[in-house]
Amino acid sequence: MAGEPQDDCLFCKIVGGKIPATVVRETDTTLAFRDINPQAPTHILVIPKVHHPDAASLAAAEPAILADVVREAGEVAAEEKLDSYRLVFNTGSGAGQTVFHAHAHVLGGRGLQWPPG
Ligand code: AMP
Repeated sequence: MAGEPQDDCLFCKIVGGKIPATVVRETDTTLAFRDINPQAPTHILVIPKVHHPDAASLAAAEPAILADVVREAGEVAAEEKLDSYRLVFNTGSGAGQTVFHAHAHVLGGRGLQWPPG
């Protein structure tokens, strides 16, 4: 069922404490942890605790939780003392999505080029 934990989902396992992560913030609805393969000095993932495959699916089903994710990304950036940061929702394998549990990448701490690759 939409929103329910999925046995084969890496991020559901992190939410459930079955796989360790370096957690930097947690709320009732979200978890923020350091990316295992950082692409910038600060690279933190903010995820909803509920399972939806991507940001648009989350927005359609539980828009308030997508808002929580975006607000938490801002809190993470403030705690990391980032003047500016990039918030990325890769959506679909062609865009580089590899984990099909909605997540926002918070990237900062270096100059970021536009357009991204
Ligand atoms: P995406 O490619 O947009 O789906 O992002 C998935 C991200 O999850 C990648 O940046 C990975 O480096 C990251 N990742 C994969 N496994 C873990 C893990 N166990 N802990 C933290 N980050 C992870």
